[in-house]
Amino acid sequence: MSVDAAEPVSSRRRVPRTDHVMADPRLVEAVGRLGSATVKAAVHEAQDHARRGIIDPGKVADFAVTKLPVRPSSLRPVLNATGVVLHTNLGRAPLGPAAIEALVAASGYTDVEFDVRTGARAGRGRATIEALLRTVPAAEAALVVNNGAAALLLATTALAAGCEVVVSRGEMIEIGDGFRLAELIASTGARVREVGATNRTNLSDYATAMGPATGCILKVHPSNFKIDGFTSSVPVADLVALGAPVIADIGSGLLAPNPLLPDEPDVTRTLGAGAALVTCSGDKLLGGPQAGLILGDAATVGELRRHPLARALRVDKTTLAALEATLAGPDSPIALYLNARPERLLERAERLAQAVGGEVVPSMGAVGGGSAPGTELAGWAVALPARIAPLLRRGDPCVVARVHHGRCMVDLRCVPEASDAALLGAVLAVVE
Ligand SMILES: *Cc1c(COP(=O)(O)O)cnc(C)c1O
Repeated sequence: MSVDAAEPVSSRRRVPRTDHVMADPRLVEAVGRLGSATVKAAVHEAQDHARRGIIDPGKVADFAVTKLPVRPSSLRPVLNATGVVLHTNLGRAPLGPAAIEALVAASGYTDVEFDVRTGARAGRGRATIEALLRTVPAAEAALVVNNGAAALLLATTALAAGCEVVVSRGEMIEIGDGFRLAELIASTGARVREVGATNRTNLSDYATAMGPATGCILKVHPSNFKIDGFTSSVPVADLVALGAPVIADIGSGLLAPNPLLPDEPDVTRTLGAGAALVTCSGDKLLGGPQAGLILGDAATVGELRRHPLARALRVDKTTLAALEATLAGPDSPIALYLNARPERLLERAERLAQAVGGEVVPSMGAVGGGSAPGTELAGWAVALPARIAPLLRRGDPCVVARVHHGRCMVDLRCVPEASDAALLGAVLAVVE
């Protein structure tokens, strides 16, 4: 607390003492929820306001209550009205109710490495692995790590440290935020052996590069861009015939073919083509928590599991719980949003537009998150003046919409229907 020496003593005296204010029942409750440092900071701010005559000294506790954060973390829930299903800046896949329930249940003490029947230690994450293998019968074994990049790191380290990873020049992608695949692999102690040209790589390009130094072949799905025109790449099945183990990084985490996304590779078919390992993310099309999945033959996955690096990349108990529930449970929010019926989106958009005075316009949603580039999802949005967008972001609930051609487009695809009323309230609060 800062005390201004020039301030009259009388006004300083009238400001209630910190311990006195902290005894207010609302603040006592807040200490239990938010911690005493956070509550004290709000009280000090209120005392400072009283000292400077901005508020009445009798209102210090009331004012401090208004300055308390709404929730214990600064991360706030967002209504995603962008129409982009996997929005990297908005945390990729939102978890569904089953995954959230599982996550909360596992967040205290839990039997993550304990068998309650025998009282003995048990394999960490065993039920999650079983759920994964039930969903992908083509895989003999599976492993879960921190994210897709970690999966790739572990796979290339275990199969090619000190050796070469043979990879097509057209697949040397940057996965986002300045992270490049080649640099990730080089950091493991493996050498990247690029083959082919940016637009075309043939089987013979791989064959000539291979030799005693080859640790593995890496096939990467260029998930966040699309090259059209004079292109060619080599399918996994042909690479497998070259003899070295093939790691396929499919990125998006589609476990089985999805007719809506015909160009997205999936784990089942990629394993069927003979890949030794398939890696992908858990929080893209799979719709689960941030995780990296590694599926493949038992011997190779076992080698990865025993690698010292595996311990550094392991996932938290809450991730294991949320992933298991996503795999075993009902359709994830991602699946619901991808498959949202345009007629239903239109009905919801019309209801919102009527209430707030906007215009209903066709809107192309996107898969996003570096998945299915070029795939457009036909839907509807409510168009409002562009100046509404920043107001919606700063509102409560926070609504993130898209500004397109000078208009603020509120797309309902990724807004849960149960939140339509909250969305309406948020828009009404900022349109006049
Ligand atoms: C998204 C992606 C990654 C990175 O996965 P994270 O889960 O973000 O670490 C790696 N490779 C491909 C092909 C991807 O699409």
